[in-house]
Amino acid sequence: MNAHPDLSRRAFFTALPAVTAGLAIPAHAADEANPHWAMLVDTRRCIACQACTMACSMENVSPEGQFRTVVATYAVTDQAGKTGLSVLPRLCNHCEEPPCIPVCPVGATFKRKDGIVLVDGERCVGCAYCVQACPYDARFVNHHTGKADKCTFCSHRVEAGLLPACVETCVGGARIFGDINHPQSDISRRLAAADGKTSVLKPEAGTTPRVFYIGLDQQLDGRVDGASTADMMWRPDTQGA
Ligand code: SF4
Ligand code: SF4
Repeated sequence: MNAHPDLSRRAFFTALPAVTAGLAIPAHAADEANPHWAMLVDTRRCIACQACTMACSMENVSPEGQFRTVVATYAVTDQAGKTGLSVLPRLCNHCEEPPCIPVCPVGATFKRKDGIVLVDGERCVGCAYCVQACPYDARFVNHHTGKADKCTFCSHRVEAGLLPACVETCVGGARIFGDINHPQSDISRRLAAADGKTSVLKPEAGTTPRVFYIGLDQQLDGRVDGASTADMMWRPDTQGA
């Protein structure tokens, strides 16, 4: 179900003047009649700069200390005993089989035809059942609104033909967003080129995520619980500056 079922793209653009200008989704790379949005994260290109985290927070006006996307960093040791740093950019996976939806007692969480999982803030009562049900720690109850909150793939920008804020700002080009129903989209071509060498988080959860990873350290596949980079990030209030 679309949150704005009666709005054409042009009408939506007119109704949302606050959408910031930015990079457009190539018109030839989306199946306008039947898109299915997804993200590919190439961890080999991620430098953990947190530009995506900040861009998301500004775009979506997230409360202080609450983040829709973070880039967690972990110390990992390879088979040779060498220890290094691995990165894990995290966000809602916009799962094909999202366990956050059936637990909602008021039907506030829903999945659109284009694959984006959203929360209807008018319906949400802030019970946090969905927060508990998500295996990816991708949801939180917004301190300001008292409603469930999470990544929306910047649906307001996508509807205006723009890329999500985190994708647009990524200096390393590590986040690729697009229509996996369109064979010529950048994400479809990169997934095809990866020839099965992609992964998703917690595949055993059976949620069929639509956020794919290339280069993800196998030791990180299940490392998605609890606090992460959010607690390690530089913040004026915690670092005395
Ligand atoms: Fe729901 Fe979590 Fe999947 Fe997002 S990652 S769709 S919040 S189960
Ligand atoms: Fe549904 Fe809101 Fe409760 Fe989540 S917090 S289960 S969206 S009512």
